[in-house]
Amino acid sequence: MIIQLQKNIDKTKFDSIQEMLNQNSIKSNFVKTQLNDYLVCFSKTKFDIRKIGHLEGVQDVHSVTDDYKLVSKKWKLTNTTIDLGEGLIYEAGNPIVIAGPCSVENEKQMELVVEHLVRNNIKIIRGGVFKPRSSPYSFRGLGIEGLKMMHELCVPHNIKIVTEVMQVSQIEEMLPYVDVFQVGARNSQNFNLLDALGSLNKLVLLKRGISGTIDELLQSAEYVFSKGNEKIILCERGIRTFETAYRNTFDINAIQVLKEKSHLPVIADPSHGVGIRDHVSKLALASLVSGADGVIFEVHPTPEEALSDGQQTLNFEESDKLIKQIRALRPFLISN
Ligand code: PEP
Ligand code: MN
Repeated sequence: MIIQLQKNIDKTKFDSIQEMLNQNSIKSNFVKTQLNDYLVCFSKTKFDIRKIGHLEGVQDVHSVTDDYKLVSKKWKLTNTTIDLGEGLIYEAGNPIVIAGPCSVENEKQMELVVEHLVRNNIKIIRGGVFKPRSSPYSFRGLGIEGLKMMHELCVPHNIKIVTEVMQVSQIEEMLPYVDVFQVGARNSQNFNLLDALGSLNKLVLLKRGISGTIDELLQSAEYVFSKGNEKIILCERGIRTFETAYRNTFDINAIQVLKEKSHLPVIADPSHGVGIRDHVSKLALASLVSGADGVIFEVHPTPEEALSDGQQTLNFEESDKLIKQIRALRPFLISN
């Protein structure tokens, strides 16, 4: 059960709601986000929510039987829209495009990528500076200096930055330069990191774990939300299966299922989803047709020379074409 409280509810009203819950042996967790105050409640026995609805200080009460609560669509039927400023709004039927290299490598590369985005009127860049790599000998990113460099190049163009944070201790130094903290697939269940991001007023792009179920992704999102941050975007990026013909199995089913189960925006990452450059654009379009609220893809001036994920990275020509196709598709997209 979720009890939506009146904003800044006074103590007497709060205490009497709490008393009613105690009398009925219902455990509750108080959650205060940027937007609302909630009591997330758990009861072993069936409870008639009408006993709560009339209490003073209660704005609304909903029965939510899922393991995840606040991210569930069971209490919030309307999809969450997230405003990044500058007219960048995550909402149904208005797909957001995020593009950029897998890794920030050097200033020349980033200047060229920023120019490419400006030419295409793309307002959100991706670029990793803390890179989770399978081998410790691979390029692991330029770190905070790389982020500062990317930030300096993006600010004059009002381009927002999405970049991966790998551990709690990185958050503070990254904060001034980041618009969206990406939680990578390998960290999808790093609960300490999710808790820490939950205490920020900053967008979190949460990727599905490498072998993560939909339920696990939603529970991870619940960590962020229940710590106070409602600004979450879910991302399908492919999962590990028995199939070896491509890097991951891009689970297009997950897009609709996530949208059915949660009110949060859902985007797709076809670059990691398939891991093969030639297939990325088609899968980007397919994910939008299947209801994704946006796509994130990798682009590089010379993908063959990229220090990470070049095999799945589009060149500028391919990216130009994809962006045009996405825009042409817009009138046909179903709003969820
Ligand atoms: C990335 O976005 O470059 C990345 C490492 O993604 P994922 O966590 O989905 O593998
Ligand atoms: Mn990558």
